[in-house]
Amino acid sequence: ITFADLGLAQDLLRAVADTGYTVPTPIQAQAIPQVLKGGDLLAAAQTGTGKTAGFTLPLLQLLMGKPSRQAGKPRALVLTPTRELAAQVEESVREYGKYLPLKSMVMFGGVGINPQIAALRKPVDILVATPGRLLDHVSQRTLDLSAVEILVLDEADRMLDMGFIHDIRKVLALLPAKRQNLLFSATFSDEIKTLADKLLDQPKLVEV
Ligand code: AMP
Repeated sequence: ITFADLGLAQDLLRAVADTGYTVPTPIQAQAIPQVLKGGDLLAAAQTGTGKTAGFTLPLLQLLMGKPSRQAGKPRALVLTPTRELAAQVEESVREYGKYLPLKSMVMFGGVGINPQIAALRKPVDILVATPGRLLDHVSQRTLDLSAVEILVLDEADRMLDMGFIHDIRKVLALLPAKRQNLLFSATFSDEIKTLADKLLDQPKLVEV
């Protein structure tokens, strides 16, 4: 099986080829076609499985036809537990999206908010964020989540371990009801199952 077999567009296949990857990992082989179909996904995947490309590549493809022209209104939102992960994921979005006209942005706490506010005055397609700073921007009305079509919760178990459940619920309440949801978690506690039940609509389950 190749990346082309998964239904990815030429401009994404070129970017993948540039990285040197030739064979999709199991999570990529399962997740990419499902996300491209538009369905919800519940993925049990550890770091190191290639999960980031598993959601980033199809996300870019779903958005590539109509880049955003509205400032501060992302069409896809990726939530991560830590700044480090947010930065890594956004780096992957840039890498795989380098031949596409899409804009990405990363935001997390512990750094000045003003450069983020300035960046939000331009169109953004994919926002990668940690929950606390994201909500700060919503309160300041510098960020509008009403155009989000796709939500990704990456390392959802770590987000819950770090006490982000209330922030996550607040974010969910701000999103349009009709959207695609992808939940990635290394472990499946009862708390994760409860969140998955609330969040996901007939998800395809992917385990690696
Ligand atoms: P992740 O699980 O997303 O953190 O990815 C783990 C590592 O695997 C990263 O360093 C990726 O660059 C690498 N990787 C992702 N997909 C592939 C692939 N299909 N073939 C080889 N390496 C990959």
